[in-house]
Parts: sequence; structure tokens; C-alpha cells
Amino acid sequence: MEKTFLMIKPDGVGRGLVGEIVKRIENKGIKIVGAKLMTVSEDLAKTHYGEHSEKPFFGELVDFITSGPVFAMVLEGENVVEIGRTLVGKTNPAESAPGTIRGDYGMTVGKNIIHGSDSVASAEKEIALWFKEEEIIDYNLVTAAWVY
Ligand code: UDP
Repeated sequence: MEKTFLMIKPDGVGRGLVGEIVKRIENKGIKIVGAKLMTVSEDLAKTHYGEHSEKPFFGELVDFITSGPVFAMVLEGENVVEIGRTLVGKTNPAESAPGTIRGDYGMTVGKNIIHGSDSVASAEKEIALWFKEEEIIDYNLVTAAWVY
């Protein structure tokens, strides 16, 4: 079964949106197999956003992600990378449809509430970067029979 990585950023945690976002994930039929509230070291932030290291916003992005706790999650489900991105919305909240997390809660690209892996390959990389193997739990959701 496919897995993806979602992370509620410091603005989402600070605004008290963890419950609201987790509710959307559960209601959708997605299984949460890993979750933790954590602070992000500068090293982790720079590795996670490594592909943006040459961009003008990189410094601000690292400062922002390390500025307060984040809520990191590993999610499991069929096609969950694409479905996760659909729930998250577009990078710029102004272009994100209502009903998406960024569309409903975000106003600016610099504080867009949540991260979601953009491909199966980056999901695998990000899960390995953020979670230890023993932090990912294998269990059955009885509701799965009604989702699939
Ligand atoms: N970002 C930013 N300014 C920009 C573009 C991106 O602050 O002009 C931040 C924003 O938080 C975004 C993150 O950098 O979520 C990563 O950018 P990416 O293009 O990978 O978007 P995402 O995959 O998060 O939608």
C-alpha cells in the first residue's frame, strides 16, 4: 500500500489547526500510520527543502519551519500521494480551491499551513528522513472494508 508524508507547519500548529486537519484525513478514509509533534533542527529543515537551497526564499523558509513545533505524519492508502496533494491544495493558497487545506486556511505562500510529498519517490525519501522505522505502525482499520 502506498505511503506519503504530510507535515503541519508551525503556522498550522500555532493556529490550532491540527485537529481540523487530522479530521479531514480520517474522514477521507486515509490511514494514519505515523504521527508526532516535534521541533525541526536547522539540519533537518535544510535537508528536507534541499531542492530549494538556491532560491531567494530558502533562508526564510528554513527560519519559518524551525520557528515552532510541526506535526509530522505518515499516511497510508491507495494512491495516497496524489490524494494527499489534492487535500493539501496548490502551493499558493490564492490558487487553492476552497475545500483544500491551503484553500480554506492559508493566505500566503510563505505561511501555507502544511506540506505534502509531491511524488512517490519524494514520499519515500521524506518518510525515511523524518521517521524511524519503529515509529511507523502496521495495523488494520475496520473501516477499510467500506473505503476500498
Ligand atoms: N515557498 C515560499 N515562497 C515561494 C515558493 C515556495 O516560501 O515563492 C515555500 C512554501 O512554504 C512552499 C515551500 O516553499 O510550501 C516548498 O515549495 P514547493 O514549490 O516545493 O511547494 P509545495 O510542494 O510545498 O506545494
